[in-house]
Amino acid sequence: MTAPNVVVLTGAGISAESGLGTFRDPGGLWEKFDPYELATPEACARDPAKVHAFYNLRRKDLIASRPNAAHLALAELERGLDAAGGRLTLVTQNIDDLHERAGSPRVLHMHGELLKARCARCGATARCDGDLSINAACAACARAGGLRPHVVWFGEFPFHLEEIADAIAAADLFASIGTSGSVYPAAAFVSEAKALDVRTVELNLEPSDNADVFDERRYGAASRIVPAWAEAMISRATT
Ligand code: NAD
Repeated sequence: MTAPNVVVLTGAGISAESGLGTFRDPGGLWEKFDPYELATPEACARDPAKVHAFYNLRRKDLIASRPNAAHLALAELERGLDAAGGRLTLVTQNIDDLHERAGSPRVLHMHGELLKARCARCGATARCDGDLSINAACAACARAGGLRPHVVWFGEFPFHLEEIADAIAAADLFASIGTSGSVYPAAAFVSEAKALDVRTVELNLEPSDNADVFDERRYGAASRIVPAWAEAMISRATT
């Protein structure tokens, strides 16, 4: 059998067992915080110190966390497909770097990256492991006050959309892992795949908002169901 070309989309659910809270689950971040006071350009203009404090905490949590078995299984799947002549394109809505730390060589972060800061004045991005503050100066343009987390806020455009659309159009399989299917445009990828006759599979703790659209559904904790699915994919691709 020829090894397939697979596009995987991941969401906050894949990182939940690494200790990073999801947004919309019971007890999730948006139950404790108001997204419109933290994750919009207007919120940052109104109260940048509050926005920095929220993301500084998220950054600390991220640095203290580790990839789990689901992240590791996707890195293994990419190596397995690659060796068998197939391909995996990894797209994530997550702003964490757990896929990279698990060994995935290239990750399309459509909602940006928490461990990067961007200067709103000159547009330069740079690695950011520590706290951001309203007084911090940009290393590229030396101006202070313009640094913000390199993440996509409500009302802003996600990154890599064209590349993701091309990858879906060329895929044999689209897999959605750990996402509620409520944030667009990512939530529409499954319909785009279906319209192009690309097979679709959902792996999630519970049925997502658009579960009915998927050809195949697997439910359970990501650390259990993703390794099992990835192993089956590798074995099919290599026999
Ligand atoms: P979401 O919070 O809307 O949904 C999470 C989904 O994961 C739910 O459907 C839930 O059932 C499922 N889930 C929870 N625990 C799981 C587990 N152990 N195994 C498998 N599935 C599990 O998250 P989303 O759909 O990714 O929504 C979007 C936004 O949340 C994105 O914009 C993303 O940037 C942001 N986000 C990212 C992080 C992160 O980077 N780790 C964390 C929180 C939110």
